[in-house]
Amino acid sequence: HRLVGSVADGEDTAVEAALRPKELDEFIGQEKVRAQLDLVLKAARARGATADHVLLSGAPGLGKTTLSMIIAAEMEAPIRITSGPAIQHAGDLAAILSSLQEGEVLFLDEIHRMSRPAEEMLYMAMEDFRVDVIVGKGPGATAIPLELPPFTLVGATTRAGLLPPPLRDRFGFTGHMEFYGPAELERVVHRSARLLDVGIDTEGAAEIAGRSRGTPRIANRLLRRVRDYAQVKADGAVDREIAAAALAVYEVDDRGLDRLDRSVLEALLKLFGGGPVGLSTLSVAVGEERETVEEVAEPFLVREGLLARTPRGRVATPAAWAHLGLTPPRQVPG
Ligand code: ATP
Repeated sequence: HRLVGSVADGEDTAVEAALRPKELDEFIGQEKVRAQLDLVLKAARARGATADHVLLSGAPGLGKTTLSMIIAAEMEAPIRITSGPAIQHAGDLAAILSSLQEGEVLFLDEIHRMSRPAEEMLYMAMEDFRVDVIVGKGPGATAIPLELPPFTLVGATTRAGLLPPPLRDRFGFTGHMEFYGPAELERVVHRSARLLDVGIDTEGAAEIAGRSRGTPRIANRLLRRVRDYAQVKADGAVDREIAAAALAVYEVDDRGLDRLDRSVLEALLKLFGGGPVGLSTLSVAVGEERETVEEVAEPFLVREGLLARTPRGRVATPAAWAHLGLTPPRQVPG
């Protein structure tokens, strides 16, 4: 479990439900997706029709689930939530599809991880609102066509490019969710603090926002840890000092790096002079699995411009030296 991890953990889920914006107007940031979705939904409503299928792409914790619930709310439709990995067999999908109500929103998280047969069933369901249910096995098997009520599929994926083109093409609209800017995250923190009844000033919110890695889920989680600290160590109110002290306890630094991120950077700078160094060597030096370094620590370090992956190995950028307060070794001529 990681405080700055962007995937939901057990503690998040309950609190997240309470912190979710319920309407499009309440949803902070993502101006482009919001404006586009607003048109799609308003037009469908005006026609009295079911909204087109929507694909949302973006990193975990940016609000894809939240948006799908907003779509349902704006269409005054019920919503069913499931995920690609939960649909192993085409039959699982058939059962879900055949029990949908007219206009219902079906949210399929991690849609790129659905099984192949289910995916093929979904093509027909999306396009013709129909599925063929196969009954029996071998030569005696028969396909029984089943009409479905019109529904809106909202698919979520970390990258739209992970989807096979025939699936991608069946969505009427694709929204790309971006990481949030500091000002937007500040608004997220203020909004959540209000809902959690935490007193926080502008600077306290900015301090949390700056450490949230562009991700509302992380902002909300850090806010909860800061709230704990403020309750135990102060009078419950959060300012810059309290926020910084609380997050220092949890080893989340002013740029949102945690202990793991910093140990990777420190090894790269202190042991290997900033690189280039191979992933395996770097991983051994920090005492972590290759996968952990590559998939857990590096993506954010790369995104922050602190580390570069080059054909010759991992290299620290000047910003990495500055962030750790170290001086790069002088270039040896020749
Ligand atoms: P995953 O892909 O891991 O399911 P997600 O992209 O679906 O993540 P959500 O569960 O929708 O993310 O959002 C995570 C948390 O962040 C929720 O508590 C939600 O309230 C909050 N959040 C996300 N986006 C916004 C936003 N634009 N404004 C306010 N809060 C937001």
